Amino acid sequence: MTGDAPVSPAAPAVRTGTGDGRHVIVVGAGAAGLAAAERLIAAGRTVTVLEARKRIGGRAFTDSVGGQIFDAGAAYIHFRERNPWVGIAEGLGVPLTRHRGWGGGRGFDGTSPLADAFRDERNAARHRLWDRMEALDVEGADRSVADVVAPGDEMERWVALRYAQQAIGEEPHNVSVADIMAQWEGADDTVREGYGTLVARSGQWLPVTLEAPVHALRWGSGGVEAETPKGTVKADKAVVTVPVGVLAQGIRFDPVLPAEHRAALERLHGGALTKVALAVGRDRLGLPSPADLFEIRSGFVFECFPYDRDLIVATIGGDPARELVARGEAAAVAHATDVLAGILGERVRGQVVAGKLADWVSDPWARGSYSVAAPGHLSARAALGRPVGERLFFAGEATAGPGSMTVGGATLAGRAAAEAALGSAA
Ligand SMILES: Cc1cc2nc3c(=O)[nH]c(=O)nc-3n(C[C@H](O)[C@H](O)[C@H](O)COP(=O)(O)OP(=O)(O)OC[C@H]3O[C@@H](n4cnc5c(N)ncnc54)[C@H](O)[C@@H]3O)c2cc1C
Repeated sequence: MTGDAPVSPAAPAVRTGTGDGRHVIVVGAGAAGLAAAERLIAAGRTVTVLEARKRIGGRAFTDSVGGQIFDAGAAYIHFRERNPWVGIAEGLGVPLTRHRGWGGGRGFDGTSPLADAFRDERNAARHRLWDRMEALDVEGADRSVADVVAPGDEMERWVALRYAQQAIGEEPHNVSVADIMAQWEGADDTVREGYGTLVARSGQWLPVTLEAPVHALRWGSGGVEAETPKGTVKADKAVVTVPVGVLAQGIRFDPVLPAEHRAALERLHGGALTKVALAVGRDRLGLPSPADLFEIRSGFVFECFPYDRDLIVATIGGDPARELVARGEAAAVAHATDVLAGILGERVRGQVVAGKLADWVSDPWARGSYSVAAPGHLSARAALGRPVGERLFFAGEATAGPGSMTVGGATLAGRAAAEAALGSAA
């Protein structure tokens, strides 16, 4: 995911501090960083955005395979009722499409179609699991999703497994009920040109220095200094918007971050949600368009022909996604094709014309799909978001509170961090 084509305009050279108390560095040009930069510039601050990749947008990235575009990262504008991207898209004249909803689709167990009774049993198990999660006192006694499954209820255990893997990219025993319950509500929209394209379009006017990974960040009473291969940038404050795995291991803070932030980073980690995009021939394997399929052994969900494209996007999460990514792109594409061939027949093989793996797990600038809070530690998100010494301000999907893990949450968190930086005394 690192060798992407540039989307941002010409990158300015890195600049040194202005010394006038008004220069802010923004680390990372994903949704949170772009939102923070926009707000700071609007308030008249001098802003230097330092981005590690060759492009802006971060984990919102529209890629292509065999001439078909697909969102390698974020694809759905979740909770459209309160998502800032609905208004941003409208402002840019980008039309949105209401998603047809979740939970449909034809299911398979290996090569065998699942009986109709499976759907009813699955839906009943979902309700049982939901009721138990909603009844849990998450303030006082949060537990993992695996812990709330009724002992011996195999269907409920399976529902919890696939829900945690597909929604959070993690295994149920590592997923906090409080965290997952804070995430999901409302309807979703999609973007024909791609969510990643929309995010990049919205930020294309911002002064982003690309290919400038921050390796070290010094902070103290005199200001901040960000070390990059293109030089050291000095400023008064920094808004840091990199993913949790990069915060924990990819940037050397000097002095080290306060204990509260280090503890928060031990309780948040990047999950593993991965996609394999398969470009297919025009006859569309004889399926209607659109179509959703899922296969219960592998954990794959197949979204077929989004926006009537000759394309199938396979999504997989949790440990199966980690295993898939570890095997490399060619093996991942072959595995997704094998599962699809099991469902639809051997002729699938001749019709998959190209494939691409979206690997956010080993990507050094993502280190996971999106943040997961350990059971009992939802408060780590707020702790991570607290400013440090009126110099460092943290934002991103991990710090967003309800609606975190999403592009919309990251944007709101970026704006809030910018406001905090503007309001701080330093
Ligand atoms: C497979 C997948 C599917 C998803 N689906 C959805 C979805 O449908 N809807 C939704 O809302 N969300 C979805 N998400 C989550 C969404 O993509 C993220 O929550 C959101 O994009 C995060 O924005 P951010 O600004 O917090 O982080 P990022 O987008 O990761 O931005 C951080 C930026 O920092 C840069 N960076 C990293 N390290 C450094 C460094 N050392 N120096 C400088 N720059 C650095 C990165 O390159 C990146 O550009 C999905 C994510 C994945 C991976």
